[in-house]
Amino acid sequence: PVRTRFAPSPTGMLHIGGARTALFNYLFARHHGGEYLLRIEDTDRERSTQAAVDVILDGLHWLGLDPDHPPVFQSTRAARHAEVAHAMLAAGQAYRCFCTAEELREMRERAIAEKRPPRYDGTWRDRDPATAPPGAPFTIRLRAPQTGEVTIDDLVQGPVTVANAELDDMILLRSDGSPTYLHAVVVDDHDMGITHVIRGDDHLTNTFRQAQIYAANGWERPRFAHIPLIHGPDGAKLSKRHGAQSVTEFRDQGLLPEALCNYLLRLGWGHGDTEIIDRAEQIRLFDLDGVGRGASRMDYAKLTHINGVYLRGADDGRLADDVIARLSGRPGLVLDDTARVRIRALMPGLKERAKSLADLADNAAFLARPLPLDYEPKARALIEGGAELLRGLAATLAPVEPFTADAIDAALRAFAEHSGHKLGQVAQPLRAALTGSTTSPGIDATAAALGRDECLARIGAAIA
Ligand code: GLU
Repeated sequence: PVRTRFAPSPTGMLHIGGARTALFNYLFARHHGGEYLLRIEDTDRERSTQAAVDVILDGLHWLGLDPDHPPVFQSTRAARHAEVAHAMLAAGQAYRCFCTAEELREMRERAIAEKRPPRYDGTWRDRDPATAPPGAPFTIRLRAPQTGEVTIDDLVQGPVTVANAELDDMILLRSDGSPTYLHAVVVDDHDMGITHVIRGDDHLTNTFRQAQIYAANGWERPRFAHIPLIHGPDGAKLSKRHGAQSVTEFRDQGLLPEALCNYLLRLGWGHGDTEIIDRAEQIRLFDLDGVGRGASRMDYAKLTHINGVYLRGADDGRLADDVIARLSGRPGLVLDDTARVRIRALMPGLKERAKSLADLADNAAFLARPLPLDYEPKARALIEGGAELLRGLAATLAPVEPFTADAIDAALRAFAEHSGHKLGQVAQPLRAALTGSTTSPGIDATAAALGRDECLARIGAAIA
């Protein structure tokens, strides 16, 4: 059975490249009826604070990518990493290296001076450890094969080969007994029963060394799939100057998680021209053969477009809840039940035009604003030029029963016709009085969402 894992290092943010890696691991496991695991690679104890871990867990939860089991914390497995290294030592697959930091530095400098790649020269590979000074600290190094080659049949990159002669004897366990990163990853993936390692292609070169560790232990290695990184629109490494790059930033900007997932999937995985694919369909269709080899470029405009599509399809109650949460920090608003009912009622109109939840919140704020409103200059001009009309509108709206969008629309049309105006000439001053601005969803729906009493109060305040 297929078992995948997402293995982020807690750095303080969940990068969208990481989010996409998680998504691919999740979809691949689901598609094959397998399991998707999470391993927090928290061996850097300084950076791996609880807050940094929470950012990852919260981000995955928000994206709908919770793992199938509680996360494995790499730091808790140090004894196991050491145990494996010592077993390899006992089996002759690894050896003790007593080189001092000073000796290693000289080795490196010599190599650089002779224009050779800086590598460990195998000083202790065949030397008797008994010749080391008693009690001297040592690292445990892999006794790597010096001939032959390693070929990884990568599920995205295809076959990739490196000659063993190019790889030196890597350290598995440091002199303080802590594992190196490459060693820990192999032991963990083996123990967790991982069948497919899907990760960013910046790890491709690590795979050769990891393959040597699998071989030395006589372990079957998983299949690897190295997916291209996400670049900025200009092809350069994605960075702050391009725009948002962490899941938290996108959430704050008002993206729906399903829109972000859909976008991240389409970025680097194709299924014809189909752009909008829901989660169930993603699971049905996803496989690694659809993942392209070229780097993907972030396209913020396309992401916004996809978000708009998902917003228009999203449940109004859910959107209203989100809008209220976003508005709740803003000064000068009253976010009571009345406001919630109004926001919920106008949501079909509001979401038609919004690009993000943040937009939606901006456009819905007027519904929660107590009197007196602040009028935008254009709205103020409309009100000043339309006092007479507004008085007539108040008289028109007062008796409308039931106070629904349809009935309001009919009343406004009758009023416009009767007073010799176009509907727009009537609607604009009314919109200004009701919203304080010149844009809103349809005036009939807007008035209906506010309710009769509030409409009359707002018109009254406008012309007072
Ligand atoms: N912890 C690594 C990272 O965050 C991923 C390692 C792996 O997937 O093997 O880049």
